[in-house]
Amino acid sequence: MTLLDARLAAEIESRRDDLISLTQALVRIPTINPPGQHYREICGLLEQRLSGSGFDCRLIRANGTPGDSQRYPRWNIVARREGGSAGDCVHFNSHTDVVEVGHGWTTDPFGGELKDGRIYGRGTCDMKGGLATSIIAAEAFLAVCPDFGGAIEISGTADEETGGYGGVAYLAKQGYFDPGKVQHVIIPEPLKKDRICLGHRGVWWAEIETRGRIAHGSMPFLGDSAIRHMGAVLEEIERYLYPLLASKLTAMPVVPPQARQSTMNINAIHGGAPEQDADFTGFPAACVADRCRITIDRRFLIEEDIATVKAEVSGMMERIKAERPGFDYEIRDLWEITPTMTDRDAPVVRTVSAAIRRVLARAPDYVVSPGTYDQKHIDRIGRLKNCIAYGPGILDLAHQPDEWIGVQDMIDSANVMALTLADLLTQNHP
Ligand SMILES: [Zn+2]
Repeated sequence: MTLLDARLAAEIESRRDDLISLTQALVRIPTINPPGQHYREICGLLEQRLSGSGFDCRLIRANGTPGDSQRYPRWNIVARREGGSAGDCVHFNSHTDVVEVGHGWTTDPFGGELKDGRIYGRGTCDMKGGLATSIIAAEAFLAVCPDFGGAIEISGTADEETGGYGGVAYLAKQGYFDPGKVQHVIIPEPLKKDRICLGHRGVWWAEIETRGRIAHGSMPFLGDSAIRHMGAVLEEIERYLYPLLASKLTAMPVVPPQARQSTMNINAIHGGAPEQDADFTGFPAACVADRCRITIDRRFLIEEDIATVKAEVSGMMERIKAERPGFDYEIRDLWEITPTMTDRDAPVVRTVSAAIRRVLARAPDYVVSPGTYDQKHIDRIGRLKNCIAYGPGILDLAHQPDEWIGVQDMIDSANVMALTLADLLTQNHP
């Protein structure tokens, strides 16, 4: 441990209570998304905090993005602190939204209760704890290295849980992640304090509909059942598509390891008579289903391209159509995101890796997320490749009841982040 390491560690340790109360204050603002509540309020809290630490704060509303309205405006904050000389900009990006509470809590989801070294609440781990950690890390770094070069940015952004269009995607379109402006991005998602997340797999969501002809259910031979046609599709998915996907393996270090292959979930199936409300007490009518629809969620690998991914499904549907009388279908694209993976030799990866070795005395694990997060927008719209997710917390706890984050994990991660700032923004260590 160098003198710098020790001074940063002491500054961070002296802020332990501050780190806890900042996390609690963030958790106590219930920024549930959807619909996207209290974004203005949480941006206000961050503005007050960060302007007090010498940051220039900009509040940016993502006007007209999905979900943005007078009632639920999509507010974001970008805070920037300039150094005394030229140099790189290191940007910490955290989303401020949390998912719904759900059932099964034994603690107050918005209470931020501290118990046995853990803070409990919706968003503690995903990812208000990571946001608070990056703020404490930056403030400790500023106390030790006031004469740094370059700049530090901290952003709190909306809507990550619903695609990030009113958050990072909007900011990236406005140029906030241009490589000329920002050189290193760290997203403090809860990937664990000793792991570096390099990127994520790709996504294709689509709807597949089969067509039939409505008739009286007592004489199904007079109609054509779209549900039976969908049955043929599901059978072909089992027989042909799933084995094919299982055979496609990736060199991406995806966690958990079961996700190191192509996967596909069938999110939903709907066919025939619409479902009635739970309090409806009548009988259904006798009809042959004329429509049946499934929604598929296909996750693909950096070794695959989206055209091939789609062609596998459309080719399968064409084969069924050729063999099955009366079969007709439509495929509708809903959403697609290409896979992204930052190079292990990228500067931000090398620097965070060295900092993990110094703080935790072990080599980091490199991982890739099975699902996407805001890195997609920074890569695709911002064209900035030097980006990772790194932060405290256990990913499995995200979106669960009794979500929590460990205070010591946040302290350790803050040390890694502060050392990263020191390495990237100071030429000579004091
Ligand atoms: Zn998250």
